[in-house]
Amino acid sequence: MSAEVPAGDKIEVGQFHSSIAAHGGKPSLQIALDNTSLSVYKECPRKYYYKIVCGYRAPGIRPPLAWGGAYHSVVELYDLLIVKGEDEQTALRAAIRLAFSLAEKGFGDDTARTLTTLVRTIVWYAANYRARDPLKTHIFGNGKVGLELSFRFYLPQTISGTNDKYVYCGHIDKISDYAGGTYAVERKHSKGALNDEFYARYAFSAQIGGYATAGKICFDTELSGVIIDGAQVLVNSSRFGRRVVHRVNSHLEEWLDDTLLWVKLLEGSAVANYWQHNTESCNKFSGCEFREVCSKPPGIREAILRQVYVVERWNPIEDR
Ligand code: SF4
Repeated sequence: MSAEVPAGDKIEVGQFHSSIAAHGGKPSLQIALDNTSLSVYKECPRKYYYKIVCGYRAPGIRPPLAWGGAYHSVVELYDLLIVKGEDEQTALRAAIRLAFSLAEKGFGDDTARTLTTLVRTIVWYAANYRARDPLKTHIFGNGKVGLELSFRFYLPQTISGTNDKYVYCGHIDKISDYAGGTYAVERKHSKGALNDEFYARYAFSAQIGGYATAGKICFDTELSGVIIDGAQVLVNSSRFGRRVVHRVNSHLEEWLDDTLLWVKLLEGSAVANYWQHNTESCNKFSGCEFREVCSKPPGIREAILRQVYVVERWNPIEDR
């Protein structure tokens, strides 16, 4: 039987502060979970332990994350100023100033992800959707603007041996009114083409299921789905595209069933304090950042982590 989406079980942002803690006698138990954390666990429990529980990451700037974060921020500012009634030139100038300030730390070694490509992409984004953008930023009944929305809600699952429930949390880039419906908008960028293969990555993504569920519980808004707002970023060009991913209630129930099962498995790992290696994931994408650790004998791994890696803990409940 499917678990019911727990309507009304939302938590005000700022009300919940603990993410990874010793809880109910379990060391290293993550009680506030987001899609990023669960995705790493699904990929490899050992990677989850190194990255999410211990907070290790390979040193250096990761261009997709650094540039992608800056792109989110400049588009968000541009959108916000337009919603507030500023003219396009004023909004664009402010977004470009922000791009320069965010670029001060650098975006790493990637010729497609630079200050130049960031400025060009926001200018071309504005030109591309100027005066004919069908996505209108949603304004809630209380006047709140539907941009950069953090959410948290209780999952209908208690931490075993306690009465405390797990929390699911995340962050929606934008909520938009479009073609008579209301949609979450997720901004994604890629160096690859915005083709069927690009959008197929999000057609059945757990991140999308979480957003649609959060819309219902936290924002009292029935979301028709999620719009992927894509940007292709090349050294000399930027291109844009969008595609709708629809979600119905039965999708959300299935998302919840799956999520609760993954949380149970994660709790099992935390109780046993054993994080198995999924060697099928070591070479996916550009390769796992912990290959240098796992390939060494177990007795010296901790020392390598401490010497070579930096600690930068992912905090899913950090307010934005
Ligand atoms: S190298 Fe492989 S086994 Fe080790 S953490 Fe990464 S994916 Fe897991």
